[in-house]
Amino acid sequence: MSTHCENCGCKIRSGYCTNCQEEAYISFVQAPEMEFSEDFMRKAWEQEAERPAEERKAMSNSPVVTHQGKQYTVRPLADGHHWQLSEVDCPRNAFTMNRDYMVLAGFRHIVEVKS
Ligand SMILES: [Zn+2]
Repeated sequence: MSTHCENCGCKIRSGYCTNCQEEAYISFVQAPEMEFSEDFMRKAWEQEAERPAEERKAMSNSPVVTHQGKQYTVRPLADGHHWQLSEVDCPRNAFTMNRDYMVLAGFRHIVEVKS
């Protein structure tokens, strides 16, 4: 499981390569409250558009939890009884938990949210 960019080998943070997607990483993750130049933001959005849609959706809509020392985004599956956890630093590192396990792991607040 890699937490580094396949293109350049730099560290992936919050799903962004800190090198190839530097502008996107800075403007969306590091300093979302800051205003950047038009050029900078155009680059950032271009980089954002190149990311897989599934990944972007999971990132923006899902709560983030800490599980065994790592951060995961949590996404409910269609059956209503399972949740998929994707590691924030490496979204391909994902697994599924059922409702009971979610409660045991301390994520009761997530499974009891009505959607
Ligand atoms: Zn890279």
